[in-house]
Amino acid sequence: MRRPFLLIPLLAALSPLNISAHEHEHEHEHSLAAHVHGIATLDIALEGQVLELQLHSPAMNIVGFEYQPRSAADKKKVRAAERLLTNEQTLMSLTPAAGCALTSVTLDNDLTEQQHSDHDHDHDQKHDAAEQQAHNDIAVHYVFHCATPQQLKHIDLANFFSAFPATEKINVQLITEQAQQGAVLTPSSTALNW
Ligand SMILES: [Zn+2]
Repeated sequence: MRRPFLLIPLLAALSPLNISAHEHEHEHEHSLAAHVHGIATLDIALEGQVLELQLHSPAMNIVGFEYQPRSAADKKKVRAAERLLTNEQTLMSLTPAAGCALTSVTLDNDLTEQQHSDHDHDHDQKHDAAEQQAHNDIAVHYVFHCATPQQLKHIDLANFFSAFPATEKINVQLITEQAQQGAVLTPSSTALNW
């Protein structure tokens, strides 16, 4: 049985509060190069009333493939996933008392960006070959305004795991003015409390 939360020391450079923590000079665990299917990352930062969440996921976890969508079925899958990802209420639950309301959401999908840049080069064989070997990510940046941010103590991603069952774990890093912690959330341990 896996421990529900694994505390991960944050890179000292991330926070002036941790500058003296020389004994924990670990590499930043969120390296974007570390794209492993099944694993996503979520960075959460609360500053004043502004709550920002940055999700990075292999496209594989979200749509089940990482090639450029060509068939109608693939394109439909991508559109459906994008709709889900930009509807934060279906994916995550925050402490209701904090009164957090979404103010913006930005989706950055490698799959559809390639599609656009590829538009005039349908017979670019070299590009196609490279593309087949490439890993592609989907990133979503959520910004919330919280009426009572000091009440924000909890996030639950149960619905995210239900919507995207290929996601085996989400490495979460949280930074608030009072708390810094890391956690590994899984389908059987979907919530982070701080
Ligand atoms: Zn991949």
